[in-house]
Amino acid sequence: MFEKILIANRGEIALRIQRACREMGIKTVVVYSEADREAKYVKLADESVCIGPAPSSKSYLHVPAIIAAAEVTDAQAIHPGYGFLSENADFAERVEQSGFVFIGPRAETIRQMGDKVSAKHAMIAAGVPCVPGSEGALPDDDSEAIIQIAKKIGYPIIIKASGGGGGRGMRVVHTESALLNAVDMTRTEAGAAFGNPTVYMEKYLQEPRHIEIQILADEYGDAIYLGERDCSMQRRHQKIIEEAPAPGITDKQRKKIGEACAQACRRIGYRGAGTFEFLYENDEFYFIEMNTRVQVEHPVTELITGIDIVQEQIRIAAGEKLRYKQKDVHLKGHSIECRINAEDPFTFVPSPGKIDGYHPAGGPGIRIDSHIYQGYTVPSHYDSMVGKVISYGDTREQAMARMRVALSEMAISGIKTNIPLHQELLLDSAFRRGGTSIHYLEERLAQMKKGN
Ligand code: ADP
Repeated sequence: MFEKILIANRGEIALRIQRACREMGIKTVVVYSEADREAKYVKLADESVCIGPAPSSKSYLHVPAIIAAAEVTDAQAIHPGYGFLSENADFAERVEQSGFVFIGPRAETIRQMGDKVSAKHAMIAAGVPCVPGSEGALPDDDSEAIIQIAKKIGYPIIIKASGGGGGRGMRVVHTESALLNAVDMTRTEAGAAFGNPTVYMEKYLQEPRHIEIQILADEYGDAIYLGERDCSMQRRHQKIIEEAPAPGITDKQRKKIGEACAQACRRIGYRGAGTFEFLYENDEFYFIEMNTRVQVEHPVTELITGIDIVQEQIRIAAGEKLRYKQKDVHLKGHSIECRINAEDPFTFVPSPGKIDGYHPAGGPGIRIDSHIYQGYTVPSHYDSMVGKVISYGDTREQAMARMRVALSEMAISGIKTNIPLHQELLLDSAFRRGGTSIHYLEERLAQMKKGN
């Protein structure tokens, strides 16, 4: 096992990884920007290295500074967390070339899954169900062929950039007359934004849910699935509430899709923790992309399986065999996560600043993953998420009730947070029934604006 790991991230996930390391008796090095000097995990780390000023390009994305920090501190491995460099294949390669272990999949796997056309090819070959669409990239010199592909799929369709991410580089097309123009525009945008003008086409699913499968795989070809999460409660493709298991998914469905994902991992030689994201409509799963890293919402899976995903990532990276067989994975109870953002709950305007009062919640079945404390200043430079409240109950009803009580106890003053929005949603009849589509939150927000 490693003696020392460098954490190349910030915020709640830096603290989460640090906790896993400390539990395992592994020393931690954190790198931080000038804006994060006062973060608690910086003080709790065995060593810390300032890697530059606040803008991410000059610190958390600045590869030479991170590698240098690992060198001067004699760290053996680097955990990239989520966001920042976590899905950057060049970074993974640089880390390994510099003699450190990258806690994640091989660089070529990250590259393959980061390109959506090649990811989809790999999934089709592995028997994972995908959204019907073009077989690979759209030709760039054959308008007639593009028109025919769309006709065959049937409108509405969606044009997507192969190199896209973060909900960008997509365009929905409802009629043939709008098709070629949409393809051209998406290409131009994709070239400018991602340096890759390749686009492909899919059937546009109208009322899907977002359901994803968590997997773990070791480097010896073993892979298991840890059930699914429902992350349909989204605004502008940003998830705000996640839960596990997904309401209404049967054991039979779970087993079928889970086995397909584990099988795909074996075929592509996947290593580490990963997530297969699907749209789910009319009882069918359709693969959209794979995330080759730990996800924000991993705790809900941890609570229903009892498996510490971050610790398993570290064990796998250290070359250990998976400690669990599929038959050891049992889902028990229900878990819900509410992402707490420093923002106005209804206008979504970011609200960084000093937290002058903080009282976290507690009680049975409540977990809080957050790096904030009273007196901490939320910097304006980063994502607005300041933590997550995760509840666990024997049933979905109990998990919701515990979350409701926890959020009513929780007090954060000095900045605005989206806790009031979560409180409304926990009382919302459609959410309480479960199984809402990815459009539900935006529709509900529009209604709230009108005063309903
Ligand atoms: P990104 O990498 O940008 O997150 P995804 O492929 O995961 O891109 O798609 C992001 C979101 O776009 C999905 O969660 C869904 O809301 C929407 N989307 C993508 N593909 C489709 C599709 N075929 N039909 C309907 N919505 C889609």
